[in-house]
Amino acid sequence: MQKCSTCGQKFSYKQLIDSISKNYKPLSCTKCRETFTVSIWSRLIISFLIVGMVFVNFPWDQPLYVKLAVFLLHCAVILLISPFIVRYKKVVEEDD
Ligand SMILES: [Zn+2]
Repeated sequence: MQKCSTCGQKFSYKQLIDSISKNYKPLSCTKCRETFTVSIWSRLIISFLIVGMVFVNFPWDQPLYVKLAVFLLHCAVILLISPFIVRYKKVVEEDD
């Protein structure tokens, strides 16, 4: 699991799930209050995983509710593993 790059405090699994499920809401360190955002690459990887998994074993010949259930299941699985995939970076304050 990723750590805060300022003070070394580890982010909790729950904290990361909460951030990712709220459309990549910025995360603040529980110890030093530094703010972190999900990197653009992490977002792309998550999107590719969802699209990729759906295309690999999508039940095209099944009724709509089955397709919907499979899609939601994929999203749920990806959400659960995403804290191990996404990378957070410090929000850099603009100086000028
Ligand atoms: Zn910190």
